[in-house]
Amino acid sequence: MRLVNLALLGGLCLAFQTGGSADDGMFPMSELSRLNLRERGLEITADQLFNPREVSLVDGICRVNGCTGSFVSPDGLIITNHHCAFGAIQKASNQARDLLRDGFRAATRAEEIPSPDYQVRITEDYEDVSDRVLSVITPQMSFLQRTQAVDRRSRELEKEAEAAHPGLRAEVSEMFPGRTYVLFLYTYLRDVRLVFAPPVSVGNFGGEVDNWEWPRHTGDFSFMRAYTAPDGSSATYSKDNIPYRPRRHLKVAAEGVNEGDAVFLLGYPGRTARHRTAEFVRYERDIRLPLTVDLYGWQISEMERAAAADREVAIRVASRMRSLANVEKRSRGQVLGLTRARIVEQRSEQEAKLQAFIDADPDRKEKYGLLLSEINGVYARMTANGPWQIHFQQLRSACRALAYGFYAVDAAAERAKPDLEREPEFQDRNFEQTRDRLLISMRDWNQELDVTLLTGMLERLSRFPEAASLESLNRVTEKSDRIAEQAAKLLAQTSLGEVEFIRECLQKSSAELTEIEDPLLQFLIGLYPTYRAMRDEQKALDGQLNRLYGSLMEVKEQFLAAAFIPDANATLRLTTGRIRAYSPRDAVIRTPISTLQGVIEKTTGVAPFDTPDAVLQAWEAKNFGRFVHPVLNQVPVAILYDTDTTGGNSGSPILNARGELVGVNFDRCFEATINDFAWNTNYSRSIGVDIRYVLWITSRVYGADHLLQEMGIR
Ligand code: ASP
Repeated sequence: MRLVNLALLGGLCLAFQTGGSADDGMFPMSELSRLNLRERGLEITADQLFNPREVSLVDGICRVNGCTGSFVSPDGLIITNHHCAFGAIQKASNQARDLLRDGFRAATRAEEIPSPDYQVRITEDYEDVSDRVLSVITPQMSFLQRTQAVDRRSRELEKEAEAAHPGLRAEVSEMFPGRTYVLFLYTYLRDVRLVFAPPVSVGNFGGEVDNWEWPRHTGDFSFMRAYTAPDGSSATYSKDNIPYRPRRHLKVAAEGVNEGDAVFLLGYPGRTARHRTAEFVRYERDIRLPLTVDLYGWQISEMERAAAADREVAIRVASRMRSLANVEKRSRGQVLGLTRARIVEQRSEQEAKLQAFIDADPDRKEKYGLLLSEINGVYARMTANGPWQIHFQQLRSACRALAYGFYAVDAAAERAKPDLEREPEFQDRNFEQTRDRLLISMRDWNQELDVTLLTGMLERLSRFPEAASLESLNRVTEKSDRIAEQAAKLLAQTSLGEVEFIRECLQKSSAELTEIEDPLLQFLIGLYPTYRAMRDEQKALDGQLNRLYGSLMEVKEQFLAAAFIPDANATLRLTTGRIRAYSPRDAVIRTPISTLQGVIEKTTGVAPFDTPDAVLQAWEAKNFGRFVHPVLNQVPVAILYDTDTTGGNSGSPILNARGELVGVNFDRCFEATINDFAWNTNYSRSIGVDIRYVLWITSRVYGADHLLQEMGIR
């Protein structure tokens, strides 16, 4: 089944410096052989890390929904973050059985809780398919056609690969826009269960106050387990399923790490924008990020208000609130950081030099002369349309009934197309699963909150001149003093919050949906053409950028001959670094290991600093076992290191030089939120929970000694 195309091993990384210390770099597996791992302090070889022909470390790494996890036992036990398992914990909670508040420990495998909206993905292999993807592009194509052709070709290649490798799933990922495409083969496991989670007062100790900050004292970890059908194939939940047998699981190094030690991470970082131009960063800094702060901040405060009055509501909105709050604070950090570090200005200066290089040669000028200004033209359009478009998109995500309804309306339109031309979630191979996830998410619906959020969004939209020209929108927003009343009426008369109704709608055609007398659904159907037009416009912009960035990378390569690693795109990457202090401000140095002493110092008894009694008692009793740091003489809680990570690296194993598990990555410090645009050794620090805290909490505090035994720790 192994299909490594050796020609690729060198194709991806256009050129980069192999520095001796940690540096900017989320390296795809294809680049490992070029890295000097020894200089980076690692004792493991590239082959031991990833070898598609034999069992290697990568076989012990998985993607858990949008996060990373690792196998830590032969029986499919996975360690990941508490915030990654949060949805599973929340879905299994109610007021009577509050697993968020109290935590969860399955005493036996039979007690593990199925989490049907979770899936685990393991990278099996990859192949460069750039030529086969790009061969479908012709010079006559419009930008929209270009994107559509690349998408369609990718779907075809995926289908072919899946036919050749039954049981595996194929996904084509764009590595360098317009240049490099890689087909990955994955195993997907669809029966995932919750095994152990500490209470939120450990797993999210410090809450949003401490999120994106160092020093940190959060026990952000959980255990889950993957199951397969009795014959080892991937299957959805059944009581007859058996624990998955990973080809490899990670060895847990209970002794942990020390300041200065080399570490590395394997994981699935989501998105970065290191190769985008200054004008893109300006758009982010001035338009998209501030609007995110504003729109999310407002929604979070409405949710807090609803949650304060009713614990059941608090449980139902917990996941959503948490993810909005996470992005809101990160966006604030990014606006601040991009401004302080002058990223736009720096990048403009670099681009001016690049332009001078281009202009210095008539052939180059002919070929690349207009490139930067054309790219900037795209961002100028995004800047002009951004505020309206961002608000308009937010309407159908803030109001959940509209989100559910949108899915049904979109499904009807998309499913009428040939399979390969549909949006990915509506293709036959994905549809059932995305539908099930939607229906599960509907359990958290809250009508009152939806009224508040719909009202707020309509009020915001009514201030845009574009609103007046959309009949459906204008009808409910034209009388500004009646918007709240209209929103309440729409939601009182709709069935879009009901699971059975959505299930039925998902079987209907577009024409049948227009026949249904449901005012919110009809309101949405009125807006749908605008949503489609925006989607097509986005695809056209992507098609244009795809072409332009392909050429930009080409000329940058000639200019710099250095340092190109593809932006993160949720595919498997390696990053290396060391456990290291940092200085966020003049005369301030922050040391890289926090301890239980700090948890006690921060504890006020009031959330988010309300340490559970069980932890306080174990602390008083000095019941530390072997989990004490030999020099600090405390149980270490969190560690800081200078790897290159982003969202999606949540849950990544932190590995020592020998490739043994010493912690679980969960965050970055505030200054490092701008990693997504520019990594820098001075401010970029990732944060993980120390394995000693994980083991101490799991066994000494909550008595799950059987899990330590399962991980081979005596
Ligand atoms: N805590 C982060 C997240 O939520 C992880 C990171 O971005 O470094 O995605």
